[in-house]
Amino acid sequence: MTKPLIGSFQLMKSLNRSLVLTTIRSAGPISRAEIAKRTALTPPTVTNIVNELIEEKFVVESEIGASSGGRKPILLKLNAQAFSIVGVDVGVGAIKTMLTDLDANVIGESRRPLPPRPDAETFLDELKRAVAERIGEAGPDRPVVGIGVGMHGLVNPEEGVSVFAPNLHLRQLPIRDSLEEAFSLPVYVENDVVAMALGEQWFGGGRETDHFICVNIGVGVGAGIVLNRTLFRGSSYSAGELGHTTVDLNGPRCSCGNYGCLQTLVSGPAIAEWVQNEIALGRRSSLEPGEAGSLGAITGERVYEAALAGDELALEAFRKAGRLLGIGLTNMIHTINPQKIILGGGVAQAGPLLTEPLAETVRARALESSVRHLTIETSRLGDRATAIGAVTIVLSRLFAQPHLGAEGAAR
Ligand SMILES: [Zn+2]
Repeated sequence: MTKPLIGSFQLMKSLNRSLVLTTIRSAGPISRAEIAKRTALTPPTVTNIVNELIEEKFVVESEIGASSGGRKPILLKLNAQAFSIVGVDVGVGAIKTMLTDLDANVIGESRRPLPPRPDAETFLDELKRAVAERIGEAGPDRPVVGIGVGMHGLVNPEEGVSVFAPNLHLRQLPIRDSLEEAFSLPVYVENDVVAMALGEQWFGGGRETDHFICVNIGVGVGAGIVLNRTLFRGSSYSAGELGHTTVDLNGPRCSCGNYGCLQTLVSGPAIAEWVQNEIALGRRSSLEPGEAGSLGAITGERVYEAALAGDELALEAFRKAGRLLGIGLTNMIHTINPQKIILGGGVAQAGPLLTEPLAETVRARALESSVRHLTIETSRLGDRATAIGAVTIVLSRLFAQPHLGAEGAAR
């Protein structure tokens, strides 16, 4: 069922096809003549490509356009509902999968819990099961054209390998190869925050933005960087390790071996741990465990709920995390000078409790010239940001980015 699609997908890499399809996606409904004008391709070339795209159901004739004197042109549009994409968000403790159409409209999604310390085989089996569920949902009327995976930790996107997934304690997972073997579909794997940044660029706050940083604050802290509208991955796919920048020389020890890394102070577990320690030292809080309870039961989520209910210790935990995050981000702002910072991940869901002290710190510390055009906002894609991002990895292979034109299509 899927083999021929792989063929057509690969053909999409042809520059002209990608340009035509992208023009139809971004400017449709659009006439053949207008496509020729915008792409600078000859009308016969456009006609040939459009015929192929119609035959393969990627494009449909939609309506009759206004006449500019002669015969009224037939307009073309993307047949977004004819195909689907599977996006996978591999996080801590769970695999989230999503099925969307070519416009990233969600058709189905679910969350599959992972055992605490799965071995590589168990993990890959769970992953395949989760993906199979979504492919089943797509059915024959809406065939899947590709699978995108946003994977936490260090990822080699060229080989589709998870090099190191610290929260799963796994290394060298051949994600692309095992999914391609199981489903005969093209598979693309990226780091979760890189995927998130791509999703924000296409469907969230990163649209029409040249330079932005997407920051994920959850169990760890990482950043996806877009410079000149292009993802910046670094020389060994390791750019954006914001969580391991030092913000407190005398801070707690990090899993990386250093002291005072940003993520030892602002991640969800770090916020919970700080509250636990303060209570152990005698601070009063509504979070104090009763006779039978233990401090370990205090999680980031519970601290958030207590903060909403006005608990002073919980409020202080978020003020402190916001300030430290502001310091970490100021370092990054001074290095990159972005127009926008988009905050995502579990801790970012705390909203103003976190973002107000954060913005205040940035205002107080950053050079005026570095923040003149800066806005800081919370992701509009919420906890779907990584899965939407994973879908976008596939879309970005299928379509040239309109603003990049031929250059983008060639990538
Ligand atoms: Zn570290």
